[in-house]
Amino acid sequence: MIMRNREELEAREAQILDRRAVFAARSLGRRLPETEDALRTCFQRDRDRILHSAAFRRLQQKTQVLPATTGDHYRTRLTHSLEVSQLARSASLTLGLNPDLAETVALAHDLGHPPFGHVGEKALDRLLDEHGGYRHNAQVLRILDDLEDRFPQGYGLNLSWETRLCLIKHRVPDGFPMSADLPRKATPYLEGQIVDLCDRAAYVAHDMDDALRGGHVTWDEFAELSLPHEADERARDKLDRLRSESGLSEEPNEKQLIRRRVSTLVSMLVQDLVRATGASLGEARLVQDCEQARKEPYLACHTAKRKGEIQELLKFLNERFYRHPEVFKAVQEAAARMTQVYQRILSEPSLLPERFQVRIDREGLERTVGDYVGGMTDRYVERLSKS
Ligand code: MG
Repeated sequence: MIMRNREELEAREAQILDRRAVFAARSLGRRLPETEDALRTCFQRDRDRILHSAAFRRLQQKTQVLPATTGDHYRTRLTHSLEVSQLARSASLTLGLNPDLAETVALAHDLGHPPFGHVGEKALDRLLDEHGGYRHNAQVLRILDDLEDRFPQGYGLNLSWETRLCLIKHRVPDGFPMSADLPRKATPYLEGQIVDLCDRAAYVAHDMDDALRGGHVTWDEFAELSLPHEADERARDKLDRLRSESGLSEEPNEKQLIRRRVSTLVSMLVQDLVRATGASLGEARLVQDCEQARKEPYLACHTAKRKGEIQELLKFLNERFYRHPEVFKAVQEAAARMTQVYQRILSEPSLLPERFQVRIDREGLERTVGDYVGGMTDRYVERLSKS
């Protein structure tokens, strides 16, 4: 039996990772210094802390596109995060980047989403307008650094610097409260860049699948677009080959075809990401390490062709699925119920659990209620709004 301890894993990273990857042994550490784990690297340890957090478990009941209470087979934030982590891990492995860091960042990247997706986020952002606003990507860091109470005195899960830095995307609005050691804007390490692009690859594909599953868009409508069209051709080729090689005589049914098309589309995007990023790393010979790789524009990228096709599909999803009257109405109504819950707690702060009440003096009432409501699941909001 092969036993690997942390030092062996770190030595292995030194042998197999690209010089521009983030190496666990060179991590800049945690806010509260801790003794290293005997078996796991710092990023594996971060991953496990995220996986065991309450915020992670709540993702199972949070909206991706359709409210999490709509049906059993649609994506929620949890299944989305798992899909992203699988893509990011395999793309990173192929590129010689740190798969543990990529997996960790992917599992955490949507923890800050409030109930009811982007519509819920906009509503909460308006409610907190005069108090620094609400941004899911900055809220992730409030959760990991503070709201998860594994360590006392606001150390949260006490994660490694590199994990935290990869989670800062876009500019954090002025006045939004975050740990003082974090910059308001940062370009992530390569592993974080990969997660960012895998996030998009995962959701264009699975949202297409959910739109088909829910009957909001038909396949023929998607097939007008370049990416789904190519995915269809490739999926049929693969199925034909499989049938002729294995002697299967039955034609695939429509459901099997859809599954094939979606998985083919994801593979096409990840392969393109790996190829284009590999080429850009090859060209970036002067970039020596992970810090130099952390500059705009991203070194992780798609080819121009695929980038354009992804935009086309996204635009279509936006018009035909995200803003589909049925979807939009369901999420709008749900977000309005969340607003009522927020206002009720704001006018009656004794409704807050004890662990939030003790934060009011330090954080202010609005932010405390925003943290509490933002952490809620879709189901919990529904329950509160009926009580
Ligand atoms: Mg996401």
